[in-house]
Amino acid sequence: MTSNSGSRTLAQAQRHILHPWDHMQDRANAGRLVVARAEGIHLISDDGRRLLDGPGGMWCVNIGHGRAEMAEAAAAQMHELSYASPFHTASGPSAELAERLTELSPPSLNTVHFTTGGSSAVDTALRTVHYVNNRTGRPGKKMILAREKGYHGSTYLAASVSGKERDKSSFDAATDLVHFLPDVAAHRRPEGVSEEEWCDAKVADLEWAIDRIGADRIGGFIAEPVLSSGGVLIPPKGYHQRTLDLCREHDIFYISDEVVTAFGRLGHWFASQEVFGIEPDFITCAKGLTSGYLPLGACLIHDRVMDRIQGDDHDVLYHNGYTYSGHPVSCAVALKNIEIFEREGILEHVRQVTPYFQERLADLARHSLVGNARGAGLIGCLEGTPESSLQNQRDLGARLDEVCEEMGLIVRPLINMAVFSPPLIITKAQIDEMMDILDAALTRVSAEFN
Ligand code: PLP
Repeated sequence: MTSNSGSRTLAQAQRHILHPWDHMQDRANAGRLVVARAEGIHLISDDGRRLLDGPGGMWCVNIGHGRAEMAEAAAAQMHELSYASPFHTASGPSAELAERLTELSPPSLNTVHFTTGGSSAVDTALRTVHYVNNRTGRPGKKMILAREKGYHGSTYLAASVSGKERDKSSFDAATDLVHFLPDVAAHRRPEGVSEEEWCDAKVADLEWAIDRIGADRIGGFIAEPVLSSGGVLIPPKGYHQRTLDLCREHDIFYISDEVVTAFGRLGHWFASQEVFGIEPDFITCAKGLTSGYLPLGACLIHDRVMDRIQGDDHDVLYHNGYTYSGHPVSCAVALKNIEIFEREGILEHVRQVTPYFQERLADLARHSLVGNARGAGLIGCLEGTPESSLQNQRDLGARLDEVCEEMGLIVRPLINMAVFSPPLIITKAQIDEMMDILDAALTRVSAEFN
């Protein structure tokens, strides 16, 4: 049942909004949940149903919904200073946040360029790679090495380095600038191949690309620590360090895209160093930076990059940036977000509940429909067996999403996968609630699919 205001909202949206990743066929009649409110880890639909927000918005609502103090921080900042041009002025919240970010990130990343979200943070990193190389007499170093199944955003350049096949259909991309390395997912390695051997093979893919293309033509390597939107793909142990080492050896800048993994998703402010032991040249972040309360992104830059481009004898501008770079209200909200993380010990909480979350997730693999159940930190993915995709016209992800929604849980469908990344404040009892629904939904969908 949908309320009157809900049906009006849906009709307006169907008529006037081209949503991200809209199906173009029959979009004017496509149904979608109309959300009226949200609190804690729940969304409340226009007709009053409470649904557990499995994807945490879009991997972003890390501190949970409906925090009054976030609204108060935004309102207070708007009363004080709602906007000042980042091109000509500095504001307290952006300066304070930049300093905090450099304290929370690996030690040598001490410069921050603020953006409007994840895609623009990635664009900034990629453009800065080119900028540095142009400035230092290496204009030929343009190619970006990226990975199949990676997702880095929806601006032209960020989309060009994204490697999800389904997103490549009818949009153009800067194909000349990018080379994709094959799938790194450790769970997809052939039978009989150990994780160490898989790691060797994946490092060899990178070595081969550098050899074939030539290091003098390659500017950067971009990698999500865990490939999230591509289906929660986890590279083999040791991969991050060895790829970083190779990049350093060939003077290729390493961009760690932490738009999903930063701000607690894996139990740390940033995963690059604390989880995977690497100090990249650039870290991009967004989403959890404000817990989704306002749009904001950031590109953090290593001193070794900045050292190359400042203080030389050319007075060249860094002509990259946005009207809303370092927006004072977004930055005030990000600072409040960090304060809440610290006060409530959210990182510690994530580290504490992760084993239970992953254990309950792994247990769902007993359903015959599930080919693989995997995750990292508070990210999870259920992937159907290859047979389940072949035998059924419907994608498992979409059907599981429908059934879960009826049962009070939102998941994010991805072809024959369902992924989830709940707000980080989720309790053990709520993890049970979530996994119990997934369990029951899988039982029901299995009966339909068999
Ligand atoms: N990078 C990663 C790893 C992402 O997952 C996303 C979005 O999901 C982006 C970049 C793009 O971020 P945005 O949608 O804020 O532009």
